[in-house]
Amino acid sequence: MELLIILYLAVVGLVFGSFFNVVGLRVPLKQSIVRPRSSCPNCKHMLTSKELIPVVSYIIQGGKCRSCKAPISPIYPIMEFVTGFLFAITPLIIGWSNELLIAYSLISLLVIITVSDLAYMIIPDKVLLFFAALFLILHIYPGGLHIIDSLLGALVGFGILLLIALISNGGMGGGDIKLFAVLGLILGVKLIILTLFFSALYGALLGSLFIVIGVAKKKQPIPFGPYIALATLTAYFFGERIVNWYFGVLL
Ligand SMILES: [Zn+2]
Repeated sequence: MELLIILYLAVVGLVFGSFFNVVGLRVPLKQSIVRPRSSCPNCKHMLTSKELIPVVSYIIQGGKCRSCKAPISPIYPIMEFVTGFLFAITPLIIGWSNELLIAYSLISLLVIITVSDLAYMIIPDKVLLFFAALFLILHIYPGGLHIIDSLLGALVGFGILLLIALISNGGMGGGDIKLFAVLGLILGVKLIILTLFFSALYGALLGSLFIVIGVAKKKQPIPFGPYIALATLTAYFFGERIVNWYFGVLL
């Protein structure tokens, strides 16, 4: 029975992932997220329902537009798959609790900002505001953070990032600073600091890996959002265990 529910959540995640792609791509361009239907950016061919099946359509069409054969970015099926995967594994990590609603909201934010940061190097204010409001409303829901820890988390996230931006002289984008404030609302003080640590770690490790394998070039500006998203998931899902382990080794 549990397996069936998890499969169902994976499918729901795939569909949501497809919608998050649309949100991440259209909001920075100030386009409506409901219409028109998605079309090929190259030939403007309007996608039929057959071409809109998450992941599956991309594989069947061999990663190309059915009409003009222009290649489609693999980012979209990847983000659909990632969303489906995250929706499916979340209850296995945090259990079947009230917290799931918060976790799914957080995953939604992370997928959307990853798409827009990869596509345009922008983390849209509209998306951040929407989720900030949602995260605040979710406090009336039992099982989440205490409101004080939440507000302090936002303040600490914003403060540290602002400090880094000032010291590094523009090395950190305004979108990243605001994103950390919003993430602080869900993570609280301890986990937002951990997220900062993992963002720097992933940025350094994966950033150099991408340069070595030729995916990215040196001195080319890189979107930092995807690293922050990965770091947030690490802190959110495993942060308590990591902190306990660390202090267990230390003391
Ligand atoms: Zn086309």
